[in-house]
Amino acid sequence: MNNPKITKLEVIVFEHEIPDLGTDYNGFNVIYEKGASLKRSLSIFRLHTDAGIVGTVPIWAASYALHSLDQVANYLIGKNPFEREKIYNDLKRGLRHTDRTAIGMVDVALWDFAGKAFDAPIYRLLGGYRESIPAYASTYHGDENGCLCSPEAYADFAEDCAGRGFPGFKIHGWGNGPLEREIATIHAVGQRVGEKMDLMVDPACELNTWGEALKLGRACDEEEFFWLEDAYKDGGVSAFGHRKLREKLQTPFLQTEHIFGLEQHVDFIVNDGTDFVRTGTYEDGGITGAMKVAHAAEGFGLDVEFHGGGLAHRHCIAAIRNTNYYELGLIGPNVSNFVSAPIYPMEYRDELESIDKQGHVAVPQGPGLGVELDWDFINRKTIETVVRE
Ligand SMILES: [Mg+2]
Repeated sequence: MNNPKITKLEVIVFEHEIPDLGTDYNGFNVIYEKGASLKRSLSIFRLHTDAGIVGTVPIWAASYALHSLDQVANYLIGKNPFEREKIYNDLKRGLRHTDRTAIGMVDVALWDFAGKAFDAPIYRLLGGYRESIPAYASTYHGDENGCLCSPEAYADFAEDCAGRGFPGFKIHGWGNGPLEREIATIHAVGQRVGEKMDLMVDPACELNTWGEALKLGRACDEEEFFWLEDAYKDGGVSAFGHRKLREKLQTPFLQTEHIFGLEQHVDFIVNDGTDFVRTGTYEDGGITGAMKVAHAAEGFGLDVEFHGGGLAHRHCIAAIRNTNYYELGLIGPNVSNFVSAPIYPMEYRDELESIDKQGHVAVPQGPGLGVELDWDFINRKTIETVVRE
């Protein structure tokens, strides 16, 4: 099987509804809303080859999978699926005028193909450093509907997560202030569980000004937070703005979730914009691109933290030393995760029940991404299949 060819690309779209979820004031942040329900269009991307092996990746948004399929189909048919590095570089050039997130979907499918071809889980092909990963609970955004609706409610949930074994907890606050409530939440959570857990806060670029970020950061300093992430409306991209914040605060920063690609990450690091480096297979060009960022960070003596969950991230984290946590979210009391559908066994999903007693998540041991999908569920919910060949 030295010279296999990609013969066909396929996106299977399926729909699934999650109870008691809605969106907040601006329509973007997903939050708890009793009695509402959130419809999600998800998909499976399948990359067929003449070797009889199919690279298969669950994709969290059908719209992303279908858009990516249109971008890459003409290029990809007939290519050798073992040439990940060449495909990464060709797509990076070919998609330079648009977003390059399609690389992520293709590259993870190529790694799943390779793992199946070599009969090994991806993390073993990448490196092999650990077989389980400490997870932090990453919350839903704040609501006004009786769930994560006050500083005390966050502290209660953090205490529940500590009791379940989570070694870390990350607050996503409210979307529209007031700043005083965000700061009170940092103090409430810090005082309740700060002795037991690493604490992080991610305002998700919601604070209006650099000055508000500074005030929030001072609260993080008082409670000795592990990191502060994407605080204000520079959109997470100003190396200069974050360098100036870092000069005034003790809390480490986690930036570069919104800086897409290897070279941009290195530029941000050398301009002193961050402490922890953020990467992800969606943003940075699949497993191939995210591992470049991880190793670049290692070369600077820094840690890399992967954005969000998923099987691909479990494999990447299991293959490197310089990282601390798996992001398990979004979660909250009384609601399911909306990012991942129930298409895996519980230990490979991102729910409160998906961790072991040490607060770790498992690394799949099957070939490729390493977990069998629940095809009964997917087939029952499928509404469309799109093929390019
Ligand atoms: Mg974030």
